[in-house]
Amino acid sequence: MRPARALIDLQALRSNYRLARELGGGKALAVVKADAYGHGAVRCAQALEADADGFAVAAIEEALELRAAGIRAPILLLEGFFEASELPLIAEHDLWTAVGSPWQVDALAAYEGPAAITVWLKLDSGMHRLGLDVAAFRAAHARLSALPQVAGVVMMTHLARADELDSERTHEQAATFAEAIKGLPGETSVCNSPALLGWPDVRSDWVRPGLMLYGANPLAAASALTARLRPVMNMRSKVIAERWIEAGEPVGYGARFVASERTRVGVVAMGYADGYPQFAPNGTPVVIDGQPGVLIGRVSMDMLTVDLTTHPQAGVGSDVELWGGQALSLSELAPRCGVSAYQLPCAVKRVRREYA
Ligand SMILES: *Cc1c(COP(=O)(O)O)cnc(C)c1O
Repeated sequence: MRPARALIDLQALRSNYRLARELGGGKALAVVKADAYGHGAVRCAQALEADADGFAVAAIEEALELRAAGIRAPILLLEGFFEASELPLIAEHDLWTAVGSPWQVDALAAYEGPAAITVWLKLDSGMHRLGLDVAAFRAAHARLSALPQVAGVVMMTHLARADELDSERTHEQAATFAEAIKGLPGETSVCNSPALLGWPDVRSDWVRPGLMLYGANPLAAASALTARLRPVMNMRSKVIAERWIEAGEPVGYGARFVASERTRVGVVAMGYADGYPQFAPNGTPVVIDGQPGVLIGRVSMDMLTVDLTTHPQAGVGSDVELWGGQALSLSELAPRCGVSAYQLPCAVKRVRREYA
């Protein structure tokens, strides 16, 4: 069997969730959209269900997958509904929906169904993606609160630059939100992972941690707080071939690596079709049988190559860690490869996931 695997540490996931909730000081929706950032939404939700106050996904398809797997906790649809025809399903499966566009408010006003729906009304506090402006938000709050088909209204907004600790934008957005909700009854929800880790003075009744659940730091720098995150995914495979090449000889597509001296090349069963970044540069760190090593040559679809010259004990069958563990954090690897820590696990496919 091909040795590429993603080991998923569910204890670490639970520990990160508890940290997020502790930092938020209230209730926390575990964000498991995009198949739990590539970690497997059903398995992650099952592992968290005893602890979690609820879950958040992007859309109804993802929520129904969790319901079909027996998840009974509340589930919020972060993108809301795309067509009014989803509303009966949302009610039937007891889902919560974000509402961030005027047409969605109208659709709810027109909806008639057996069960009432909980709405998370979204304010555009400055990200300018989804959400209503202050006046429309306050009007929609009044309108929705009066509807019998609306079970309750939670007030939410989303932060655009909470990962930039030197930007004033987060405080500006928080102030806009505070102004918009003044005098309105109901719970609030503001914080994502970077806000929980970087902005202790921005808080809300509900927090919505995503990336930090998976043990990755969304901030540029590590801190005592981010050191408490435990990595959840460990991407690994094995050396499947080895060879010596002479000085001046290239490795792989495009001869991106040319040996400056006699070099022992190890071929690892892991490529960009597995989610490893295709443009990881020469020198990108890997861990070979527990020892630090480096990538050489361009990453292929199914394979990549590492330098075994200084790993005399390593050879065919040696373990290679691509990320995870304590040694190779997503947050350090991602910027070297020109991607974000969010993208790396989200891109994982084809590799076998093993849960522990
Ligand atoms: C994805 C998402 C989150 C989680 O963000 P992280 O940065 O991964 O913590 C929170 N809220 C909304 C609206 C989202 O779309």
